[in-house]
Amino acid sequence: MILILFGAPGAGKGTQATRLVEERGLVQLSTGDMLRAAIAAGSELGLRAKEIMDRGDLVSDDIMVGMIAERMDAPDCANGVILDGFPRTVAQAEALDEMLDARGTGIDHVVEIKVDEAALFARIENRAAESGDARSDDNADTLRKRLAVYHENTAPLLPYYEARGLLSSVDGMTSIEDVASSVAKIVG
Ligand code: AMP
Repeated sequence: MILILFGAPGAGKGTQATRLVEERGLVQLSTGDMLRAAIAAGSELGLRAKEIMDRGDLVSDDIMVGMIAERMDAPDCANGVILDGFPRTVAQAEALDEMLDARGTGIDHVVEIKVDEAALFARIENRAAESGDARSDDNADTLRKRLAVYHENTAPLLPYYEARGLLSSVDGMTSIEDVASSVAKIVG
């Protein structure tokens, strides 16, 4: 199964992905986590990415597509993956379609977790308070920028997937449990 969890920053994609990993044995591929691992490892890519992430901008499509393509070829992904934070641009979505086509597979579901943006600020501030400074992009200024980038570059993926009959939406303003059961109904 190939599942895309879609939503604005702070919508709860990571939380829901973690549950699906525990409950269904899928592998979560979070491009944000991969970039944070590169930063923690002090790699050249990590150094470049950190600056971009701290500004709330997007890392280049080529880098992200390469990162996902390499990861999806690993044996642990054979059972299925949850894409969390990828694709984030139409170019990434097109590259993903090509990549999956070449492997004779395709996307099963795109689940949009819909949230009220005012509430996102409260969530992000909570996450920042809980995680200390583990995520240097969790602050109101960067969130404002990340939301603008989401609307400009990522939201256009909604009609892209809707046109392909792949898109479902769930209300992300309910409890984690309720969001999880709405997601489960879609994923089957
Ligand atoms: P996330 O943890 O998904 O919120 O991602 C944190 C940051 O990593 C984003 O604000 C971007 O700077 C970068 N990033 C993560 N995934 C992508 C992607 N698919 N394309 C471009 N940049 C990304």
